Amino acid sequence: MKGVHFMSRFFSKKRSGLKSYTPGEQPSLGEFLKLNTNESPFPPPHSAVKAASSHVPHLNLYNDTKCTRLTEVFARHKDVLEENVIFSNGSDEILAFCYLAFCDDEGGICYPDISYGFYDVFSELFLTPCEVIPLDKDFKINPEHYYNKGKTVLIANPNAPTGIALSLTEIEGIIEHNRDNIVIIDEAYVDFGAESAAPLTKKYDNLIVVGTFSKSRNMAGARLGYAIACKELIADLNRVKFSFNPYNVNSITQAIGSASIEEDDYYKECIGEVIAARTEFVKALDGMSFNTLPSLANFVFTTTDKMEGELLFERLKEHKILVRHFKTDRLKNHLRISIGTREQMQHVAKTLEKILGGAK
Ligand SMILES: *Cc1c(COP(=O)(O)O)cnc(C)c1O
Repeated sequence: MKGVHFMSRFFSKKRSGLKSYTPGEQPSLGEFLKLNTNESPFPPPHSAVKAASSHVPHLNLYNDTKCTRLTEVFARHKDVLEENVIFSNGSDEILAFCYLAFCDDEGGICYPDISYGFYDVFSELFLTPCEVIPLDKDFKINPEHYYNKGKTVLIANPNAPTGIALSLTEIEGIIEHNRDNIVIIDEAYVDFGAESAAPLTKKYDNLIVVGTFSKSRNMAGARLGYAIACKELIADLNRVKFSFNPYNVNSITQAIGSASIEEDDYYKECIGEVIAARTEFVKALDGMSFNTLPSLANFVFTTTDKMEGELLFERLKEHKILVRHFKTDRLKNHLRISIGTREQMQHVAKTLEKILGGAK
């Protein structure tokens, strides 16, 4: 990012150590096979494209701050009431609202040491004390480590960048053992094979399930996220939203979000393709002596002792394949590779074979 190392003398002293989130590169379209930010390889459904263009002539008007239509169709789809839903400009924004609403200084927040990078950024931005809880040796979350925390618990399920999921029973155990603090389950990848905790929001007043249209609904660029929770928690999140940016979800995004709800068959097909591609790709990796974590997400986290992670990342880039590499000690020999179409993943497997075949 250009200019990010400059800082004026006016910047918040309390935040001077803030390390902003580093998004995966977004190179110009077409240059790379882009498998670095867990986007869907498939476009939004036609009906969403149509809904978007029919809204353009009305952009002179402000958008609906309550996302009325979208809330109606989405609540029905998720089998909850409208009062149990809030939308946001991507799910990152809902997470920010949660920090503002539920993470006071005294309590703070806890989450796994290896998880979505934005959690650390928010903890610094909002000056929230955070406890990072190490994953087990096999990169798994041990649910009991999250019992009786007395602070907000935040877990991505499936976790990123590991792709490993907890069962619904394990999630419920964590909620049961934190009745006096909030548990946030970030379900960005849940549709690729894990179980959603959304139905548990009817039973527990301390649970917030956060989701996004970015991954399994093929709409990362539209920026649409949501939370499902009991009506009091949703009211709290609305209190924050209406104190920050009531117009957070633009009208085109609301329109395509609503249209997309009617397209379950299309999404089932897309998700089915991604899961099939994942299965095939993992098998190909197994055949090349990669060690791959058991993923229920639209990416895999994998390592080989034939080549260091960073070098392999660079070699793939030379072959115009962009994946994600993290430089921290425990992750630096792994690559996170988003799952594209089956053809794309066959191409990646072949390229890996070529690169490693030539490795000493
Ligand atoms: C991608 C992702 C998000 C954020 O998605 P938005 O595009 O902001 O909706 C949230 N959590 C995790 C774990 C993610 O990987």
